[in-house]
Amino acid sequence: MSSSAVQASEKSLLQPTIIPRPEHTISRRDIDNDALKVLYRLHSHGYLAYLVGGGVRDVLLGRKPKDFDVATNARPSEVRKLFRNSRIIGKRFRLIQVFFRGGKIIEVSTFRRPAEDDEAEVLSDNNTFGTPAEDALRRDLTINALFYNIADFSVVDYVDGLADLKAGRIRAVGNADVRFHRDPVRVLRAVRHAARTGFSLTRDTLKAVKSHRGDLCLCPTSRVRDELMRDLKGGAAAAWLELAHDTGVLYSLLPTLEPYYAAKDSPQRAQAVKLLAQVDKSLAKGKDVEEAVVLCLLFWPALEVLAQEEEFAPGRQGRAQWSMWVREALPALAQPVAFAKRVLERACQIAGLMGFVRLAAPGQTLPKKVVTRGYYPVACDLAKFLGWDLDGMNRSGPSKSSSKRRRRRRRRKPKPRKKGENTA
Ligand code: ATP
Ligand code: MG
Repeated sequence: MSSSAVQASEKSLLQPTIIPRPEHTISRRDIDNDALKVLYRLHSHGYLAYLVGGGVRDVLLGRKPKDFDVATNARPSEVRKLFRNSRIIGKRFRLIQVFFRGGKIIEVSTFRRPAEDDEAEVLSDNNTFGTPAEDALRRDLTINALFYNIADFSVVDYVDGLADLKAGRIRAVGNADVRFHRDPVRVLRAVRHAARTGFSLTRDTLKAVKSHRGDLCLCPTSRVRDELMRDLKGGAAAAWLELAHDTGVLYSLLPTLEPYYAAKDSPQRAQAVKLLAQVDKSLAKGKDVEEAVVLCLLFWPALEVLAQEEEFAPGRQGRAQWSMWVREALPALAQPVAFAKRVLERACQIAGLMGFVRLAAPGQTLPKKVVTRGYYPVACDLAKFLGWDLDGMNRSGPSKSSSKRRRRRRRRKPKPRKKGENTA
């Protein structure tokens, strides 16, 4: 047997710590009803059925989970047979999506073994399946590797995750250096969960974050972009920015921000943190913030520094210059991350409208054609975050075009008639 095969079989024999129901805080009341239905059905058909991942972590932290994922020893085809309202997705890692009312989806995956232990280049589907122990060991962080067993309502812990959760520690499962090397996206996930929970990265995990942040450029750009967007819209964007700066992860993702945000007392970074804190507040109140707005806010302090090197003429000409300049400057700052074209385009449009408030002349109002643009309300949102009242310029008086019309009408007033002039 090869050494990695020996290690793998040792891992599958690993004994978990079982925390019985009276000794932990997960109550079935905290678990989504449909997720419970899935767990119960798997269990009643003789399969292992565990709640896994972020759902377990968040319930233990007393937070409301975003989603509930289930893991089982049933194979995808067996799960599919149990749930009529389901479909199989994924090629290499097949998982089942079970559909419920209101568009809710519960994902069910078969226990998986860590792919990095396999020596074969291409794995057959069977090879990817594993034991519960292997499934725990393939996960990113110990706090994300806890299982809740529906059979006896216990927590199953293969990785000392509960101790880390109680102590406020973010620790990679296994050897952080190896795990982050295998999948550098885990660097982002470690920083995200530290920022979200306010927990500290353990020494080894922090060291691995710093030494593998440079490998992020090796990951598929779409994965990095999606993870970054989750950071910015996850409700802890301000804390994320600070930690991403402290660890240097920010500059591996966006080297373009380094000249503006990296200095110890950078006022630009402080401003960006404040702007993102407002986004966090809005999201906490249940008010969504468009991705384009969040992008503009992340880059705005750097954009302002760059703008100081430009000269914008007063009035209409300056506004046109500004909006053309923004179309180049903003994508250049964002370029290292492959943000969706649609989002970047929207960001340029709304940032372009900031010319009206940034270069406003006293008493200036908005032309009607601006107010009627589809993205005008989004631009108003951005302006509000930046401390400007774009919409106020719309409300504060007649638009330019209507005042012109009035002037023209006044000019056309008939002259007073002269004495004896024929009125017929
Ligand atoms: P969120 O609350 O943001 O959804 P989450 O921890 O549930 O956080 P998901 O992206 O939904 O994150 O992933 C579900 C689970 O899958 C994680 O909790 C983790 O156990 C595992 N996981 C996700 N990405 C990785 C990865 N790159 N490497 C190893 N395990 C991962
Ligand atoms: Mg999740």
